[in-house]
Amino acid sequence: MFVFAGGFCAVASGAARADIDADIAANIAAITTALPACEAARAHCLGIQLHITAGDAGLIAAPDWLATQLAAANRHFAPLDVEFQVTGIDTSPASGAHIATRGERDDLATGRLTGRVIHVFIVGQLDDVDEPGKVIRGVTWHTRKDDRKYVLVSTVAPERVLAHELGHVFGLPHSTYAVSIMNKADRKEPPVEQRTFADEEIAAMRPHLKRLLRDKVIAEVAK
Ligand SMILES: [Zn+2]
Repeated sequence: MFVFAGGFCAVASGAARADIDADIAANIAAITTALPACEAARAHCLGIQLHITAGDAGLIAAPDWLATQLAAANRHFAPLDVEFQVTGIDTSPASGAHIATRGERDDLATGRLTGRVIHVFIVGQLDDVDEPGKVIRGVTWHTRKDDRKYVLVSTVAPERVLAHELGHVFGLPHSTYAVSIMNKADRKEPPVEQRTFADEEIAAMRPHLKRLLRDKVIAEVAK
């Protein structure tokens, strides 16, 4: 069941605003159609709430790109018997087109980390707050007030980025396993399409998954 919560702050007025809102509603409907539900055979089906930056040009992310990110995450998490299903989509303010500072990362989440789901914010340019002038493709973040993790993914991200960030949500640090999508070092082998989580990383995520379920940070989606 999808919940379309309107978080968009209207700045335009009248007919133009109505047209933009109609476009956004149509985009959300297209995304809903493009994203599959969990397979019945999976042991764990976990919910993702997508918060997609919306501006006067509509939503920042295309349905196909979102579907690719989700499909890759589901492929990489299959050895953990985990699948992700988008259980809700809402919009976040146009300022998400460029997230430059720690404060802006914090502000995205204000009042929005509700429910036992993983929150994923789709943003435009995402600056590296540690290295000025550098941009990154995704980050797993929490505010100073709250240790609940949430994910930011930039629309420039290649398909493995959501899976990598979800690895952080399940407790993984960056690693040096050649095979691993948690290894950020440039390397030729194995080729990108053969990379996934190392067996050791799957094993390390298992107790973390149990803990998040036990502590009711996340919950199984009813199939
Ligand atoms: Zn990382």
